[in-house]
Amino acid sequence: MILPIIALFIFGTMFGSFLSVINYRIRKNEKGIFFGRSKCPYCHKNLKAYQLIPIISYFVGGGKCMFCKKKISITYPLLELAGGLTLVSLFIYEPFIKLTFSGIQYFALPSLLYFLYLSFIGFCFIGIFFYDIQYLEIPEIYTFPAIALVFLWGIFGTTLSLYDSAIGGALAGIFFGIQVLISKEKWLGAGDLQLGILIGLFFGWKLFLLALFIIYFIGLIITLILMATKKVKRTSKIPFAPFLIMGSFITLFFGKSILNFYINTFL
Ligand SMILES: [Zn+2]
Repeated sequence: MILPIIALFIFGTMFGSFLSVINYRIRKNEKGIFFGRSKCPYCHKNLKAYQLIPIISYFVGGGKCMFCKKKISITYPLLELAGGLTLVSLFIYEPFIKLTFSGIQYFALPSLLYFLYLSFIGFCFIGIFFYDIQYLEIPEIYTFPAIALVFLWGIFGTTLSLYDSAIGGALAGIFFGIQVLISKEKWLGAGDLQLGILIGLFFGWKLFLLALFIIYFIGLIITLILMATKKVKRTSKIPFAPFLIMGSFITLFFGKSILNFYINTFL
């Protein structure tokens, strides 16, 4: 197990680093989102190959650009770390291969496909998570492809029924849509609505209801902590997508166990 975990962690940090580049370019409205080299956001010098090593190069450089010495945001290494942790947790959740030092002991293609599907959604989630924290916006470049993929997975995949998924998406659309309308996009925006629908489709209606509960529970706790430590005021705008996404990861990894526990204990 340890070999694929190390490899996937490294891959994940590289994808996380790539998400930073995507987020930066969405913000600057730059063309060529998917191609082109990484640059320092301040002096625009192209980074050298050894400066592109995820996480490590940030700390080796003391969190500064080696050309212009400007401080580089901590979100870069954090997003890289999140990328690594996402792939590793998804692999533990869906181990598609078992390696020993003598060779491959087990490999399942459907399991690999499911892992890849979850990874794509997972990376859209963490891309949005950081973008919303930094800029209070949710880019459609993540939500729309993810919704399309979940829809395809509902048709061709084996883990999700299209019917459950559609009901989940519709419930989410109504639940978040009403809030967007009532608040005139003040406390929830169109981006939150799209992300909410994605989550509804992704989980199907049963797990979506559980996800909602977890999302608001986390939201409440974290908002209270932020207020108590005076990090935010009652009136400041708090990004909602990070709660949606944290709740979704918890639901993905623990949702079925929580539901089973609930059913066995109380029903
Ligand atoms: Zn620089």
